[in-house]
Order: sequence, then C-alpha cells, then structure tokens
Amino acid sequence: MALLISRQLVQVFDLPAEDGEQHVHDWAQEAYTCSTLDRTPPNTHPEYGNPNLRLPLWKNKLFFGGSETAGYGGGYLEGALESAARIQRTLVSDPISLGPEALNGPADNTACIAIFGTWVTAQQPDLLATYRRHLNQYLARQHKEQLTQRALLDTMEQFYSEALRQLSELPFDTSGTGVHKGRSALTPEVHAPFAIVHQTLISEALAFNHSSYALSNFPEEHEPGKEYLSTIARDLAAAWPEFALSSNAVLRAKAATVSESQRTH
Ligand SMILES: Cc1cc2nc3c(=O)[nH]c(=O)nc-3n(C[C@H](O)[C@H](O)[C@H](O)COP(=O)(O)OP(=O)(O)OC[C@H]3O[C@@H](n4cnc5c(N)ncnc54)[C@H](O)[C@@H]3O)c2cc1C
Repeated sequence: MALLISRQLVQVFDLPAEDGEQHVHDWAQEAYTCSTLDRTPPNTHPEYGNPNLRLPLWKNKLFFGGSETAGYGGGYLEGALESAARIQRTLVSDPISLGPEALNGPADNTACIAIFGTWVTAQQPDLLATYRRHLNQYLARQHKEQLTQRALLDTMEQFYSEALRQLSELPFDTSGTGVHKGRSALTPEVHAPFAIVHQTLISEALAFNHSSYALSNFPEEHEPGKEYLSTIARDLAAAWPEFALSSNAVLRAKAATVSESQRTH
C-alpha cells in the first residue's frame, strides 16, 4: 500500500511528494466519523447532484455548498471543490455585488453584456485549475492516451454549461433586439470574450504539460506534436457550435419571455 500511495502522490503532485511522510489512519475506527450505518454502506456510489440543492435561496442571500450539492463529483473532494467554485462564481457574477450602478433597470442589455464579459474573463485562472483536475483524474484512472485532449474538452464543456447558466440568469430584455437569420444581434457581443479565453487556456495547458513531471512518461502529452495539436484544436472547435447555438437560443428565449409577460400585462 505504501508503494501505491507514494506512486499516486507523485502522479498527482509531482516528484517532491515522494519525500513526504506517510501516515495511515483507519477512519472506520473513529467513533465520531464512522457510524454503524457507515459500516454497512450501499454497494454503489449514491446519487448526488439534486439540482434543488444548487438553487440560491432567500433572494440570493443563502447558498448551499458542500460535496453533496455538486453537479458532478458528489461525495468526493472533487465535488466539494466544484461546489465551492460554483458559489464563488455566483457571488462574483452577482450584479448586486458589482454595485447597484451596474444595472440601470431590467432592460439594460449593455450592462448585462458587460457583466457577462467580466464573468467570462474572471473564470480564466480557474480554467487551468479545472484542466489540471481533469488531467489528474485521467492519470489516476490509468488513462494513457489523449489525456490533454480529453481534459481540455471536459474543462470547456463544464465552462460552457456554467456560462449558459450565468447567461440565462442575467436580466436581458431582448424583445426589441434584432434577429437576423435566426441570430440575435446581441449574440456576437456575448461570444466575443470567449476567443481569448480559448487561446489562453490552450497555451497555459500546454505550458503546464511541458513542466509536469507526471506527464514526462507520456511524450505525446508532455510535448504534443503538430498533428495532435490540430486534433485538440478541432475537438475544441467542435464543442463551440453547441454553446454558440444554445447561448443564442437563451437570448432569443428572453425576448419571447418578455413579450409574453408584456401581453399578459
Ligand atoms: C473516511 C473518508 C474517506 C474519504 N476518502 C475520499 C477519497 O479518497 N477521495 C475523495 O475524493 N473523497 C473522499 N472522501 C470524501 C471527501 O472527504 C468529502 O467529500 C469532502 O471532504 C467533502 O467536503 P465538504 O467541504 O463538502 O465537507 P466537509 O469536508 O465535511 O466540511 C464540512 C465542514 O463543516 C464543519 N461543520 C459542520 N457543521 C458545522 C457547524 N454547525 N458549524 C460550523 N462548522 C460546521 C465540519 O467540521 C467540517 O469541517 C472521504 C470521506 C471520508 C469520511
């Protein structure tokens, strides 16, 4: 077991982790940690991720955090990190936290676009950390191929889904906004900040790979060749249209919702 622990620590935290001391503790012997029920656990990992646990309560004043509320990785440390990041993102992107002057009423589309752009840019430092987490998971699960490609794709898919949620929560009023061939006039502005985010993430991920001891056993990931790089670029480019279409649909749906409520009034 000592050997396996040491190997996994090096894999996850690189070479210096090999010099640490190992302390092994049987948590099942801890009366306040392990109950009788814990000693007869279910055979499979329980279902977590009930979306109701992720809803802000009391008009955005109460947030539930913790691994059990996570959209993925529930019951694991990964879930704890994901839920903490979700609350942090919500607080940062909350228009109220940017100051009441940020929004001049519910129909201030310019302010909504600015808030969304600020949110997208503010995610940049987290994206590399998310990429590293996905990469470590693939390494820990003994995957040997396309590690960079998979981890980057997972990172971007997670990012897109969070971005869609952010977008749908902003109080756009697109009822007076033009739509040309199905595309809302606001869509290009909403998409603009993503170009830099993509490029930066890819360069940071490649720089990280190059410096990673754990990846030195995987030459294709450590120093990706031209062909692999273009495969990665193609893969990420293929993930974009789905987000692009969905975000456009969110903006158009907002126009429909506002017109509907205007008709009702
Ligand atoms: C024995 C064991 C082994 C595990 N092994 C792994 C593993 O190998 N890999 C993995 O990914 N995950 C593992 N997990 C799961 C992982 O530890 C948890 O999913 C993760 O720690 C949850 O983090 P959290 O921040 O959601 O909650 P916690 O880490 O439980 O943090 C909650 C905190 O709130 C504090 N608290 C509670 N009530 C109050 C109160 N009223 N007022 C103030 N503070 C309060 C608690 O003291 C605690 O510090 C293991 C869990 C256990 C128990």
